[in-house]
Amino acid sequence: MKTDSFALRHIGPRATDIDQMLKTIGADSIDQLIYETLPDGIRLKDDLDLPEGLSESEYTSHILQLAAKNKLYKSYIGLGYHEAFTPSVIKRNILENPGWYTAYTPYQAEIAQGRLEALLNFQTMICDLTGMELANASLLDESTAAAEAMTMLHSLRSRDQKKQDVNKFFVSEEILPQTLAVLNTKAKPLGIEVEVGDHRTFEFSETYYGALLQYPAKYGEVFNYEDFVANANAAGIKVAVAADILSLVVLTPPGEFGADVVVGTTQRFGIPLGYGGPHAGYFATKEEYKRNIPGRIIGVSKDKDGNRALRMALQTREQHIKRDKATSNICTAQVLLAVMAGMYAVYHGPEGLKYIANKVHFSAATLEQKLKELGYEQVNKSYFDTLLVKADAAKIQVIAQANEVNFLSVDENHVALSLNEATNIDDLNVIVKIFAEAAGKEFDPITVLSATSTINGTKRTSAFLQEAVFNSYHSETEMMRYIRKLERKDLSLNHSMISLGSCTMKLNAATEMLPLSMAQWANIHPFAPVDQAEGYQTVLKTLEQQLNVITGFAGTSLQPNSGAQGEYAGLMTIQAYLESKGEGHRNICLIPASAHGTNPASAVLAGMKVVVTKTDEKGNIDVEDVREKAEKYKDSLAALMVTYPSTHGVFESSIKEITQIIHDNGGQVYMDGANMNAQVGLTNPATIGADVCHLNLHKTFAIPHGGGGPGVGPICVAEHLVEFLPSNPVIKTGGTNAIEAISAAPWGSALVCLISYGYIKMLGAQGLKQSTIHAILNANYIKARLSEKFDILYTGECGRAAHEMIVDCRPFKKNGIEVTDIAKRLIDYGFHAPTVSFPVAGTIMVEPTESESKEELDRFCDALLSIREEIDTLADSEDNVLKNAPHTLQMLTSDEWNHPYSRQKAAFPLEYISENKFWPSVRRVDDAFGDRNLICTCAPIETYIEA
Ligand SMILES: *Cc1c(COP(=O)(O)O)cnc(C)c1O
Repeated sequence: MKTDSFALRHIGPRATDIDQMLKTIGADSIDQLIYETLPDGIRLKDDLDLPEGLSESEYTSHILQLAAKNKLYKSYIGLGYHEAFTPSVIKRNILENPGWYTAYTPYQAEIAQGRLEALLNFQTMICDLTGMELANASLLDESTAAAEAMTMLHSLRSRDQKKQDVNKFFVSEEILPQTLAVLNTKAKPLGIEVEVGDHRTFEFSETYYGALLQYPAKYGEVFNYEDFVANANAAGIKVAVAADILSLVVLTPPGEFGADVVVGTTQRFGIPLGYGGPHAGYFATKEEYKRNIPGRIIGVSKDKDGNRALRMALQTREQHIKRDKATSNICTAQVLLAVMAGMYAVYHGPEGLKYIANKVHFSAATLEQKLKELGYEQVNKSYFDTLLVKADAAKIQVIAQANEVNFLSVDENHVALSLNEATNIDDLNVIVKIFAEAAGKEFDPITVLSATSTINGTKRTSAFLQEAVFNSYHSETEMMRYIRKLERKDLSLNHSMISLGSCTMKLNAATEMLPLSMAQWANIHPFAPVDQAEGYQTVLKTLEQQLNVITGFAGTSLQPNSGAQGEYAGLMTIQAYLESKGEGHRNICLIPASAHGTNPASAVLAGMKVVVTKTDEKGNIDVEDVREKAEKYKDSLAALMVTYPSTHGVFESSIKEITQIIHDNGGQVYMDGANMNAQVGLTNPATIGADVCHLNLHKTFAIPHGGGGPGVGPICVAEHLVEFLPSNPVIKTGGTNAIEAISAAPWGSALVCLISYGYIKMLGAQGLKQSTIHAILNANYIKARLSEKFDILYTGECGRAAHEMIVDCRPFKKNGIEVTDIAKRLIDYGFHAPTVSFPVAGTIMVEPTESESKEELDRFCDALLSIREEIDTLADSEDNVLKNAPHTLQMLTSDEWNHPYSRQKAAFPLEYISENKFWPSVRRVDDAFGDRNLICTCAPIETYIEA
């Protein structure tokens, strides 16, 4: 046996455990178990056509070789992306730390106070810098955030009698090209008319509902938008501003000149370029729009003892939960990156940020002076970091390339260059040299930056980041401990199994993660010439091919940066295809009742009408209902969205019949691939008859969840849809008849695609298949152990689960116990709750994944069985060990103890816990209180002084 095989590290159960597990399950062999789980007729006959897996050491050499093929030029291209320096204390303690990157979305607030605080810092930072009242905890990137602003303002029209039917949205021609492309994509199905023009000559009229401006403009000019906003408001036009976050340190924040929404990216706050992402987009607005904000908002509330506790605010109103009434489909966002950007502000504080922003600005001003001395004309009258220079672009380009520098060629006679935090005097002199050579003049170097500001009339005067957290941790020791203090409050995969059904919390291997830290992967600008990114091109092309093989499809786009984005992208390609056949009128989307909320939300955003189909009493899709509805709508049927195996964790044997019905009635089949972990190597979307699917690389393909992002949601499509795969306006990607961009960067979040590439490379065909088989084995083992004392809802025809199962907790209502009580009690046992009340209210959905060992599965089952016993022996009182869960150290060590059960029973109900106790930092959090008293920023410094 090859003991250096990566599969042995990735897969939990040891060979010696298998017999015991099968015995418990009641299967003779793994083959038999799989035979009983997967219906006949959808099983793959051949192994995946992928090479054998590499060992970890082989992969590490391989990825180093590829890294060397990326050229580390200095990029001054700008357009929303700037080189940034990640403080090492943040890189080492967050980006490279599984305590942070393996956490899940903070749905269980009691064991997520660390990242909730980090996100509250992020929101506070955004509010302060933009001058707005309310910010969310990140969006996917600047362009999709701008599109969310456009749609949110569109949905707000209903508040204004005169605007009800107004569909025109003005976009300044100064907007970033990728943002305009994303806006165009998003506007079309919603009937929004995007009108691009010059904001200086715009005629304000009642026929527009909203407008979008870029601040500073795409080639660097800083316009004063005060009059524009005032005139717009007078005409009832709401204004969104896309703003550069670092520039807001020195420029008047949009909130101070009346903007309704401010969006942008926080990439330059210490986040690597990563060839396009992941980076945290931001979205800030006025308090009055709090019910309409896309994404998640973190708010302050209190716990059962009245102590301050954080949680996701307005949680039950997270947009996609409204299904087809939602105005946004965003689910996974960019939590890890938002945490890092917030920490960047914590570490630098207001003075540090001012120093950085001024250094960037003074560098630009000094450079302008030098270029003028060389006889160049600089066009921007007021600017922050970007110069627009009149010059022979082709000539400059050639010399720049020879000096390993990238500028932006605006047109034949203009070159733009954006400076950044990492630009030093030596770098400036390389630039001066290039322009001197092009002018045929002598090179006279810059020796010192001149501290003169060229910003006219839009200088920031207001203070920002006055809160204590931004003024306390400026030494590395203090910062390291602050990060660690927060980390300790959170339960991540480095503590215990996180069995969230539908979320696939598997191993995120260190060997997969390490390349993210390397400069040759981290510091490549997404709009750098493709020939400078050969390493990336190899990884991305190969990953596309790997995913084609795994899904059985013909083409893949890596652009969507979340699962929900993938859904949307997939539906848009379907629509483009139908249109190309003259069937653009087809707009009905059938969605089973059990589908994830993002499905109907995405369908509506793609301009489709959702028709819900029934689920039968076994949890399966009601085939007759699908047939009836498909036939009823045969002239207008566009698509079926189906999750497979089902959201209930079952391989429905009727799937091929279902997909055939849709095709027979002129529709396309969209498969939600969130449950791909049960399919890889055994079956695939093409085999079941789908036309397109998205995959969540942050579930099945080992990208860590990061506390709620990043994600990558590629779409894989059959041959007839390949030509419609999405494009990018700056770097050519996508099909020959491509739809416009879905997200900002050409290949989405390219940096983290490395993780999935490594995962597939190291597992190889056999390892991938074995992972799927062990995921099914682990799930059925848990099912067998729990079914002694719990009802497991919905199984396949032979009584098998796929890779996850639903455990019914509704029967305990008669004991006064809710599913939430069980979820919170699991914390006392050291476990994160499984998925609560999805897809069935009052249940938990358990998905162990292949990475968990038999020992860990046993501890988890022991915990649930022990809780079951606690339920059976409850005294007739609300004061019980479940209702009071979770128990904090503070509560248990207080001098007073008046509960009818012991402290020992509260904290250490099973033996294994004493070895590995997790202490929640707060008691049960009061959600409703926080929603009634919405506070979504850190307390201002005065409250600390008073205290
Ligand atoms: C996770 C999930 C999604 C959404 O993916 P995001 O990356 O969070 O947008 C969609 N459908 C199902 C079934 C899922 O489990």
